[in-house]
Amino acid sequence: MGITYQRVLLKLSGEALMGNLGYGIDPSIVQEIAQEVADVVNSGIQVAIVVGGGNIFRGVKAAAGGMDRATADYVGMIATVMNAITLQDALEQLGIPTRVQTAIAMQEVAEPYIRRRAIRHLEKGRVVVFGAGSGNPFFTTDTTAALRAAEIDANVIFKATKVDGIYDSDPKTNPNARRYETLTYSHVLTHDLRVMDSTAIALCKDNNIPIIVFDLGVSGNVRRAVMGESVGTIVGG
Ligand code: UDP
Repeated sequence: MGITYQRVLLKLSGEALMGNLGYGIDPSIVQEIAQEVADVVNSGIQVAIVVGGGNIFRGVKAAAGGMDRATADYVGMIATVMNAITLQDALEQLGIPTRVQTAIAMQEVAEPYIRRRAIRHLEKGRVVVFGAGSGNPFFTTDTTAALRAAEIDANVIFKATKVDGIYDSDPKTNPNARRYETLTYSHVLTHDLRVMDSTAIALCKDNNIPIIVFDLGVSGNVRRAVMGESVGTIVGG
């Protein structure tokens, strides 16, 4: 089997778990995502996941409403832990051993983030879900994904979205929008393409971690991406 990537960091936004609901978690969507992950883990691929929290709470939005930004960000980070534990449950229902590690200690519900321990779990075939972002306010879970990918020496970041890659204009409003097969980090940064925030892109650039942007809504896409098939846009050097 022509597997291209052995260790993958999958970035799931909180919204990915929301499905068509306006808020919160859609259990059937979580099951579908877990199935996609289980499928590649059962082929021997090591998968770590960073999950966002935008389906529950977003610090920037709460701060715009008058809340203290750092405090709001802590609430946002705690929201991601709910998503992480929900994903763990769905994966374990499929027989995939999964550990949640949080950047803010919550020892009753999850392990604290310990880099070497996370790597050991992956080597043993367990999925590791990183919760609570980076543990620092003013950051995002995209940046956390880049940071953790560098720390655990992941081969690639899979940035799961609702579109099948990066376009030169919005494909929803412009029928002639063109999808990029590949893009450089510099192009993404200079054209301010909203793939991941600029801190995340810069971190990937510095550490030479490719990012594959693809549509998680298409069943089998995680496997295709692992096999090196073209499923979206690859951002690299
Ligand atoms: N957050 C934070 N530091 C981090 C990661 C996340 O403060 O390292 C907070 C921030 O308030 C953010 C919220 O957690 O709005 C949820 O994360 P994010 O918005 O990145 O989730 P996503 O957009 O992926 O659902």
